[in-house]
Amino acid sequence: MSNKNLLERSLNSVWHPCTQMKQHETLPLVPISRGEGVWLHDFDGSRYLDAISSWWVNLFGHSNPRINAAIRDQLDRLEHVMLAGFTHEPVVQLSERLIQIVPGRLGHCFYGSDGASATEVALKMSFHYWHNMGHPGKNNFISLQNGYHGETLGALSVTDVALFRETYSPLLRHSNHVRTPDWRYADQGESPRVYALRAAAQLEDFLVRHHTKTAALILEPLIQGAAGMGMYHSDYLKHAREICDRYQVHLIADEIAVGFGRTGTLFACEQADIAPDFLCLAKGLSGGYLPLSVVMTTDSVYQAFYHDETARAFLHSHTHSGNALACRAALATLDIFEQDGVIAANLIKAQYLNRVSEPITSHPKVKNFRNCGMVWAFEVETSDPAFSGKFFQAALKQGLLLRPLENTVYFMPPYVINEQEMDMLVTGTLRALDSC
Ligand SMILES: *Cc1c(COP(=O)(O)O)cnc(C)c1O
Repeated sequence: MSNKNLLERSLNSVWHPCTQMKQHETLPLVPISRGEGVWLHDFDGSRYLDAISSWWVNLFGHSNPRINAAIRDQLDRLEHVMLAGFTHEPVVQLSERLIQIVPGRLGHCFYGSDGASATEVALKMSFHYWHNMGHPGKNNFISLQNGYHGETLGALSVTDVALFRETYSPLLRHSNHVRTPDWRYADQGESPRVYALRAAAQLEDFLVRHHTKTAALILEPLIQGAAGMGMYHSDYLKHAREICDRYQVHLIADEIAVGFGRTGTLFACEQADIAPDFLCLAKGLSGGYLPLSVVMTTDSVYQAFYHDETARAFLHSHTHSGNALACRAALATLDIFEQDGVIAANLIKAQYLNRVSEPITSHPKVKNFRNCGMVWAFEVETSDPAFSGKFFQAALKQGLLLRPLENTVYFMPPYVINEQEMDMLVTGTLRALDSC
């Protein structure tokens, strides 16, 4: 196999995601033959530092020896068994361990295959809970302006990214978007915290009027990823939790992107010292290896479905729910967090990257340089609507995989990145900035 051969065959047979395929007349696909640590290799000896963890999933590098070994071991025992009526060791162990480490008391795990399906599950469960409790009128959802929760029709209904949403709007259920706490929207001189409180006040205004019809608020804690890594003050979460409790509205924390250490704590909700009613996890859950998602919820939600009547049960099925290989990859991922003291080690890595990023921070084209845990982002002042694609190409020439969201460049590297690789990331980013 060669680069050229693979590219041609891919364009003839694969419909690539999130892509205007015609662009590939001029923008070549990037063929990958293998991965190792933070590096992706092609067939001709070039390599790229995966600075966005392959769409935010890869926590401990490509081809991680420990995760590989766990999957190999599992493969020889049990690859998969249906989870309705059956159970197996990896899914039980994973559920028990997740229950131990997540914030609050979320004692029940429901498995899906990807992030969007976790969103669907959480929305349906919330509505069905209120239905079972005698409040069927609570059938609306609210979400944050610029929020992103996946692209199936239900998830898209609570997503507020125009590019993904507009075409399909006739298919979507109405839902309300409340003010984002993202501090880039603060007034001049207004601190991130004061702005977050202003956004929380608007949430309360909304719920005062609409709580009897509202089942849940869904949000991405601390960082709105697809919005362009919009970061916000943790006090928003504290207030949102209190407000949801006051008006009997569920809080769904979508930690699909921010869970598993991205924000500097194992889960973002920890930084506000809150627990959601539903916690959605995916992406890094399996170390990015295999499609796996989970929705975790409280005993009281679980109990509302526990009944002699079948229709009161949560009759939602995913064929690959709780897949054994994926659960085993997740267990190996949790082992690495425990054995390597990853959260503490990341803090030191983040300090290093912040230090060496000074030339980016002070670059004349760079605005809003920001960091939260293992996520960095900044806006580039440009009037070029094609900036994102051009920067992507320029970064590839520097051996970096960076994929800006419009004019927001961000780093979300695998946690195995070392100091030398962080130096390469900064140097390459500066060269890419200067060339476009
Ligand atoms: C990626 C993402 C999703 C959707 O996950 P998929 O696996 O792509 O369906 C949902 N919510 C957030 C916050 C995400 O970042």
